[in-house]
Amino acid sequence: MEQFETYLRERGVRQTEPRREIFKILNEYDQPLTIKEILRYSQISERTSVYRALSLFVELEIAEVLQIKGKQRYELAEPFKSHHHHLVCIRCGALVPINQPKLERLVQHIASDQHYQLTSHHVELQGICNTCQKNSEKIS
Ligand SMILES: [Zn+2]
Ligand SMILES: [Zn+2]
Repeated sequence: MEQFETYLRERGVRQTEPRREIFKILNEYDQPLTIKEILRYSQISERTSVYRALSLFVELEIAEVLQIKGKQRYELAEPFKSHHHHLVCIRCGALVPINQPKLERLVQHIASDQHYQLTSHHVELQGICNTCQKNSEKIS
């Protein structure tokens, strides 16, 4: 929270109650959340203030938007959350965070091979989770 407060102060952005609350929620739940979920977990009744806070977070790079199964989900960006990627189930939308030093080294290697100075990267793996595989076995 302190990091968040400093970050806003440094950018001359006011700290409002909805902003603080949404940050707290994103920080507490270890999953990217939809706007619906954020509304459910928060005391904020106004949908528009959630929208506004989230778009500000994205603009300030406090949060990131992920498109999962056609739905937008929000999660904290670095440095508020440690660097990671996701494994996404295309059937149920389940998400598994991936934290693989080997993958990070490979990404760095690919960039430096092309004499690139890497500034960011996004990796997303899509597939069918174990539960959904089992469920489709039952049907057939
Ligand atoms: Zn699944
Ligand atoms: Zn990475």
